[in-house]
Amino acid sequence: SNALRQAGHQVIEGWTLGEDELASYYSEIEGIMVRTNKVPAETMAKMPKLKIVSKHGVGCDNIDVNYARAHDITVAIAADANADSVAEHTLMFMLMMAKNPREMDRVVREDYSLRKELIQKILSSTDKNSGKLNNNKKLGIALVGLGNYATNQLAPALFETSLCELKAIVTGTPSKIPQWKKKYGLSNNQVYNYENFDSIINNPEVHIVYIVLPNNMHKEYTLRAFKANKHVICEKPLALNANEANEMIAASKKVNRELYVGYRLHYEPHHQEVIRLCREKTFGRIKHFEGGFGFRAGNSNQWRLKKQYGGGALMDVGIYVIQGARYTIGEEPISVTAREYKTDNIKFKEVDELIVWQMEFPSGAIASCTTSFAASTNHLFVAAEKGFIRLSPSYTYGKISGYTRKYAFDFQQVNQQALHMDGISNNLINGVPHLNTGGDEGLRDMKIIDAIFKSASSDGKRVLI
Ligand code: NAD
Repeated sequence: SNALRQAGHQVIEGWTLGEDELASYYSEIEGIMVRTNKVPAETMAKMPKLKIVSKHGVGCDNIDVNYARAHDITVAIAADANADSVAEHTLMFMLMMAKNPREMDRVVREDYSLRKELIQKILSSTDKNSGKLNNNKKLGIALVGLGNYATNQLAPALFETSLCELKAIVTGTPSKIPQWKKKYGLSNNQVYNYENFDSIINNPEVHIVYIVLPNNMHKEYTLRAFKANKHVICEKPLALNANEANEMIAASKKVNRELYVGYRLHYEPHHQEVIRLCREKTFGRIKHFEGGFGFRAGNSNQWRLKKQYGGGALMDVGIYVIQGARYTIGEEPISVTAREYKTDNIKFKEVDELIVWQMEFPSGAIASCTTSFAASTNHLFVAAEKGFIRLSPSYTYGKISGYTRKYAFDFQQVNQQALHMDGISNNLINGVPHLNTGGDEGLRDMKIIDAIFKSASSDGKRVLI
């Protein structure tokens, strides 16, 4: 399934087996069956509707080929006789994983008589079309800022990526270094601080700098990373405002390096399916979006409650609701009205605690949105002419659930961070389009955030965007 995702395909069915569960199915698992519907490869590449099932009806979506090899599980791929791009990519992935011919021999096809011929065909097409993949080369990522998100989500996710890996860290806290070195096998020359960060230009192992710092530092470190000739993934919000975001995009163009934003949900199957249902107008035209994301901000000293750091609920979590409204309705808002409220004037002296806002879209669709640092809320609701879609919780990187008027979603939980970083790496290595997580997408949200603050500070005046 990683190979399918790398090839830009969506895996829309299947469920995850934990290692224990996998072990208990050990004797049963015989293969990963990729069912394609014999549609042309070009169509598949755009929006394939793939189903992945095993012979025994056991979902195999998340079976790791390395794991399978380590446990001596023979992995077979059954594909339609005319192996199309999907089967080819899957096999290609298996071949890449196979480190020597003996192991490669275990990569088998259901129809044994065709195995050699198919492998030959794939190897030659791999050489010709995507030689870089064949090198088994991964892009190196440097994480800048070893706080909560980098430590607990991104770095562990880099154990699960296929196209990128952790190659450096940048930290201002020396006490963190030993455990990072140990856990991720880093050496001294892969460890930077904020002062010597710019010397990362001399490190050819690092291709992407991933900025995971407080929001007010995003611009500075993005510009420094571009000066060091690296590509950048910058966490959300892209910047403090649209002006800063524009500067960052201009800097990326100047050095011909890519700028991406940490929008992980574009790689999450529930959100992908909601986007598909909305684009295909399965329930008719969208009339109304409703969404909210908020949590109780604990510690009063954290940067999220300080203005100079770009704190506040809207920048931190409200941005997900802006995203949700935009990618479900599929348009850019033309105006916004917003009101800000506080229930705790001391704790939220410097930043917004609760903002409610409405956005009007060209088609007439309206989005009603809420964000809060005082109460927990986490949902997305799309009301269309003939039905609705709801996700709740919606924006978490844990388990997301949802249903439509007609049925409940049944997607597995994925590692959003791993898929996001692999998607970006695939974009850089092979030119496979990323899923709308570029700097321009971050800029669009910053323009809306600017308008929301403007409206909220003028008692809800309608602000055109
Ligand atoms: P955090 O406070 O846990 O980590 C911030 C890191 O920055 C810390 O390691 C801190 O030491 C370092 N830092 C360096 N200079 C600093 C300074 N002057 N003041 C304060 N800290 C400084 O925060 P986090 O939750 O990891 O968030 C970091 C970024 O990641 C934010 O932009 C946030 O919006 C984003 N984030 C994104 C997601 C997501 O799902 N995409 C989730 C969480 C956070």
